[in-house]
Amino acid sequence: MSIIMEPGASDYQIRNVVKKMKTYGVDVLKVKGKYQTFLGAIGDESRLDFDALSAMDGVERTNPVQIDVKYPLVNRRFKNDDTIVEIGDGKTNKVYIGGEKPVYIAGPCSVESLEQMREVAGYVANLAAKDNYGQYMLRGGVWKPRTNPHTFQGLGEEGLNILARIRDEFGLPVVTEGMREEHMQKIADSADAIQIGARHMQAYDLLKAAGKTGKPVIFKKGTDHSVEEFLQASEYILVGGNGKGQSGIVFCPRGSHTKDVKYIRNRPDTEALLVLSAETYFPAIFDPSHSIGRREYVGNVSAAAMAMGAHGLLIEVHPDPQKAMTDAMQQVTPGEFKQIVNACNGIHKMRREYDILR
Ligand code: PEP
Ligand code: MN
Repeated sequence: MSIIMEPGASDYQIRNVVKKMKTYGVDVLKVKGKYQTFLGAIGDESRLDFDALSAMDGVERTNPVQIDVKYPLVNRRFKNDDTIVEIGDGKTNKVYIGGEKPVYIAGPCSVESLEQMREVAGYVANLAAKDNYGQYMLRGGVWKPRTNPHTFQGLGEEGLNILARIRDEFGLPVVTEGMREEHMQKIADSADAIQIGARHMQAYDLLKAAGKTGKPVIFKKGTDHSVEEFLQASEYILVGGNGKGQSGIVFCPRGSHTKDVKYIRNRPDTEALLVLSAETYFPAIFDPSHSIGRREYVGNVSAAAMAMGAHGLLIEVHPDPQKAMTDAMQQVTPGEFKQIVNACNGIHKMRREYDILR
């Protein structure tokens, strides 16, 4: 069950209700929002006395359904201001996801070698130096969640070291995906953000481990999951301790399974961006590369995501896409990336100009 306190409920009233709930043997999840406080019962609810709780001072209503607000910690209802997620530190430039300017996270699907990463990073750094609107960071997978175990699985720690070296050389923040709990701290120690991949959207212990590091988490949506499941799963990151200091969640839809696999990899689920912005105060970016899975369409899907309110894009960029060890069909060249950025900066500006666009 859950309790919503009245908008003006005092700390004293809230404390009393929490105390009363605990006498029934449950733990209490308290979320203090800007306007209202939410109290959720966790544990065996069979002894809860609804009438007694409903009658207490400051209680607006009780809801017998188990936690009616399914994602209280990320819910806009309890924190109206948008959160800007800051990524990077003194050794890199900083990017602010969810603010006035879009963020482009660019780089290959997989870190393949130091030379490959240098080449991509050089292009991105060059673009970053010339673009006074977009913000930039680098990506590159080192632990790869491959559908087939007989394919390239990533360079592992060697790849993470390459990424860390590139970060120091170019001063751009970096992100990579962690697949196991022990990866999380390693990424936190040498990168600027942790990516949780689509396949691990509901790997709850992994989410808690990522949250515990206090690093920002770029959280991908699963290919067969609803936005509601996505939001609920994100609570595990915050239960793990994220949300304090330089941390936070960046939601990232990346396409849903489609019947049209003959032509495209996934169906770009850009509508998730609209729902996320209505439901959560954390920012959302979009991944056009895995969403559509075809290089020739990545530009259009990027533009569509920008029009649907994305705060940024995660785009796979490879110096020689045809030769890529993973996801060769969807990676764009640095030149194509530059064109996409130009178009998307324009759409982002237009969004700020016309109120009808969120
Ligand atoms: C990736 O970004 O490299 C990746 C594997 O993405 P996803 O988890 O969305 O498939
Ligand atoms: Mn990929």
